[in-house]
Amino acid sequence: MTLVDWGKLPTDLFIGGVWRPAASGRRIDVVDPSTATVITSVADAGVEEAVAAVDAASAAAAAWAGTSPRQRAETLRRAFDLMTERREELAQLMSTENGKSLVDSRAEASYAAEFFRWYAEEAVRVRGEIAEAPAGTNSILVTYQPIGVAVLVTPWNFPAAMATRKIGPALAAGCTVVLKPATETPLTALALADLLTEAGVPAGVVNVVATSTPGPVVGAMLSDERVRMLSFTGSTEVGRVLLRQASDRVLKTAMELGGNAPFLVFDDADLEAALDGAMVAKMRNGGQACTAANRFYVQAGIHDAFVRGLTERMGRIVLGAGTDPDTQCGPLVNRASVEKADHLVRDAVARGASVTTGGEPPEEDGFFYPPTVLVDVPADAEILREEVFAPVAPVVRFEDPEEVLAAANDTIHGLVSYVFTGDVARGMRVAGRLESGMVGLNRGLVSDPAAPFGGVKQSGLGREGGHEGLLEFMEAKYVATSW
Ligand code: NAP
Ligand code: MG
Repeated sequence: MTLVDWGKLPTDLFIGGVWRPAASGRRIDVVDPSTATVITSVADAGVEEAVAAVDAASAAAAAWAGTSPRQRAETLRRAFDLMTERREELAQLMSTENGKSLVDSRAEASYAAEFFRWYAEEAVRVRGEIAEAPAGTNSILVTYQPIGVAVLVTPWNFPAAMATRKIGPALAAGCTVVLKPATETPLTALALADLLTEAGVPAGVVNVVATSTPGPVVGAMLSDERVRMLSFTGSTEVGRVLLRQASDRVLKTAMELGGNAPFLVFDDADLEAALDGAMVAKMRNGGQACTAANRFYVQAGIHDAFVRGLTERMGRIVLGAGTDPDTQCGPLVNRASVEKADHLVRDAVARGASVTTGGEPPEEDGFFYPPTVLVDVPADAEILREEVFAPVAPVVRFEDPEEVLAAANDTIHGLVSYVFTGDVARGMRVAGRLESGMVGLNRGLVSDPAAPFGGVKQSGLGREGGHEGLLEFMEAKYVATSW
């Protein structure tokens, strides 16, 4: 049984409120990672369509910025309601094009919808300020204005939430957007465009262009004078390239990049809570999350019990097709991801680590890798440096809390860290010294539309979610005045 009406699913480019094919006639195959077969294809935008999308966003900008905050709020609220109504259908769609389990897809559909509700609520809460100048000669008046046309570039791992986390605040702020979704998962983005139109978003306010040539297509938009902002979520590698391009026009950027999250378990931690947290932090989305626990550091006194518990829990996870209702962990997104996981595990084992569960990709057509636990992972193993993006948990034993802090911070990344301890004062001290934008203290999940999500160091610039996420799409206007 499928709720997705494949015949009615939009697969063209969405520009200026109109669905249209690419002028080149080119299309991109969309593959189901559970079976490695083609599901459908979507129109493949070139530079011509990228410029057309900016034309549309630019033409719609003044009218949208001129709507009342209340009107924008009501539109976003309708989008939340529609998304909530269609949660199951969107979940099916995501499980098909991304491969994630239905449990993960349903959770994502709800999480993604919450960005529309949260920013519906925030749209009417933009406050400026007024102050007397220190010299007493005049007043300092500050208001916030929409930044203008924003280009949004998103990854495949959360096809709905990474889009709504940008569209929600952009629309609330009064900006118009062009969304370039990931090539692996364009269908969810196109379904969202349809849903937003039904919610009352006017033509040109949201445009969606999938493309097999992201370099030139995004490049053309970034060099267009009418574009005022780039909001990107993806790898640090691509983020660096885009930051360089954005510098040519001193473009405002918001960057949500890669992570390498440490997960610290101290001797005094509640073992069950630490295991529950570890399973969420590692296995949400089958390990394919920027917030995924990448390295487990476990203190000597609790180490063996933690490894036994983690091995047992990881070992009983049901691996299967994304849309199979029994599946707990779906496939990885593509073949290259399986090869990368396999390489990282083999490298760790060659350097002295042992596998306590998993470790061998099954012989299947889909892109599967089994939940895997590695112990005694040496400091020089590649898996402790690289973003794993697979259901593989490398565990390192530690004795000294100072040493583990140094190891945790020894990375260019700084998105999120996890700490489990029964001593909250210790937990707060450690949280303060961890070099990451977010910390899960006795919790394996931090993502919340009401909180500022983002990284330090090379994990990014700016924050998404919270009130901060709205201000990213606005600029302060200061008026010096006397009366
Ligand atoms: P990616 O390869 O960096 O791609 C992200 C997006 O950028 C995709 O839409 C991609 O298009 C596009 N892109 C690729 N090359 C480009 C170029 N030269 N110019 C313009 N756009 C380009 O990342 P991914 O593999 O999709 O996603 C996984 C990464 O995202 C991980 O590193 C993960 O940590 C990170 N992530 C971060 C957060 C966060 O909030 N910090 C959240 C989720 C994911 P194509 O699909 O065509 O390659
Ligand atoms: Mg990619």
